Amino acid sequence: MKNKEVAEIFNKVAALLEIKGDNPYRIRAYQKAAQTIEALTTDVEELAKQGKLEKLPGIGPDLAGKIKEILKTGTLSLYEELKKEIPLVLLDFLEIPSLGPKKVKVLYEKLGITNIEELEKACKEHKIAKLPGFGWKTEENILKGIVLFREKRGRRPLGEVLPLAEEIMEILKRESPVENIAVAGSIRRKKETVKDIDVLITSIQPEKVMKKVTELFLVEEVIAFGETKTSVRLKTGIQMDIRVVEPDSWGAALAYFTGSKAHNIRVRELALEKGLKINEYGVFRGEEKIAGKTEEEVYASVGLPFIPPEIREDWGEIEAALQGKLPKLVEYNEILGDAHVHSKYSDGTASLEEIITKAEKLGLSWVAICDHSQGLKVAGGVPVEDLFKKKKHIEELNKRSSKVKLIFGAEVDILSDGTLDYPDEILAEIDFVIAAIHTGFQQTEEQITNRIISALKHPLVHAIAHPTGRVIGEREPYAINMPKILEVAAQYGKALEINAYYKRLDLNDVNTRAAKEKSIPLIIGTDAHFIDQIEYLPLGTAVARRGWCEKKDILNTLTYEEFMSWLKKVRNQF
Ligand SMILES: [Zn+2]
Ligand SMILES: [Zn+2]
Repeated sequence: MKNKEVAEIFNKVAALLEIKGDNPYRIRAYQKAAQTIEALTTDVEELAKQGKLEKLPGIGPDLAGKIKEILKTGTLSLYEELKKEIPLVLLDFLEIPSLGPKKVKVLYEKLGITNIEELEKACKEHKIAKLPGFGWKTEENILKGIVLFREKRGRRPLGEVLPLAEEIMEILKRESPVENIAVAGSIRRKKETVKDIDVLITSIQPEKVMKKVTELFLVEEVIAFGETKTSVRLKTGIQMDIRVVEPDSWGAALAYFTGSKAHNIRVRELALEKGLKINEYGVFRGEEKIAGKTEEEVYASVGLPFIPPEIREDWGEIEAALQGKLPKLVEYNEILGDAHVHSKYSDGTASLEEIITKAEKLGLSWVAICDHSQGLKVAGGVPVEDLFKKKKHIEELNKRSSKVKLIFGAEVDILSDGTLDYPDEILAEIDFVIAAIHTGFQQTEEQITNRIISALKHPLVHAIAHPTGRVIGEREPYAINMPKILEVAAQYGKALEINAYYKRLDLNDVNTRAAKEKSIPLIIGTDAHFIDQIEYLPLGTAVARRGWCEKKDILNTLTYEEFMSWLKKVRNQF
């Protein structure tokens, strides 16, 4: 499949056009085309052969022609031309916190800077402070940005940043005179990785709030201090911007700073059609402000219902909203269980008793204990004789505990030939079998895909854990043919996991949406090896929401009894 490569070229074209200062609509067309292709569950080359490219959302004859060109030549003449105009390495600069496309353009045009080393040198020689729109502070910030860029390449996993943002909001609510406070940006949309923390507040004493911000223990240094906007760098290296907004602009500002950019452009287009103007201060008809206090009000002014932040990506939500077809997204509090937790029986650190206590604290009513299977020696795989000890242990605890039920499960290795790591007569004794690949990542796409497919077809398997094997920032997905896997999962009624561990989030949002569209049951598991990791469960729910899932799509919304009967139903079909 060449989908990824085609999408990648479109993404780069969009970014290069942005640095060039090209028409925003043109830029967005490429961004959107890239998203569409990335989200495809069929081979773009197949679609081209069938002459169906033009029918894809956001792809007209022009872009269809460009896709064909990439498929044929491996590149795009426009892209090659842009690369001659603008060095590709400048795209990296966009990952430095204080640099946007406009500033990158200036650096390139005025100083001819084309790589990070030159950028660093120019800062140290104070050539940057003198540029229009820059200054001493910017120069200093770029230098620090370079260090961080090198360290982290810009983006952090949501699961690392969200708890920080929540903690800061709690402290400010408790210890400073804020009235409204919310985190905006990609954190609010729950994107799997984020660049910085955007916080909005209303307050009648903003200077006190800002002072408190600079005094926070979590803050490493103050980048810019002001009564309407303060920027700090946290000890973890991430930048946080806090903005004060007027109460009657609260909704407009929240919508504006939540994004995504593509979503906001669509909303602004709708406003224009109605003769309105939307910005971060409100919705205006001429000079008159007609809305802005709440987000609901802002959306209503352009004829839209409230759109949940997780799906504000211009992935079809505007169209759905206009037709009254927005999904009713699964709610965070509708998740009743965690489907993938390791205990001391394998490489987990917690006892079953500790897991029950933790689950009860988190308000869960069931937990599936899925320890590794026997062959996975490095991860303390459970030998057959211990399995029955574990089974008995769970039965005893379930008799005693009324609030939290444990489910006797196993995360069974899919061996390199596609067979499973326990014999069938043992698998039949295990109530919940979730199969996964942990070895042989270097196999071909066909081999890995076939391993997963044979597990999906196995009558005793219920689900596939972390289906693509990716680890954010550490490991790319292994080569698999996701469309084929979705097809088989749908055909056999098997579940796919949304692994909620913050570095996995696998399935991701795009694959989750594709699975939902095929009515594949989805199941969220934290894969906790340490007890506190069960707290990552909402990250999985966030992925489900970004994938447009409703309550009925997610098995974790079932009660213990309902889930147990789903498990039996899957096996009874054979
Ligand atoms: Zn695993
Ligand atoms: Zn696991």
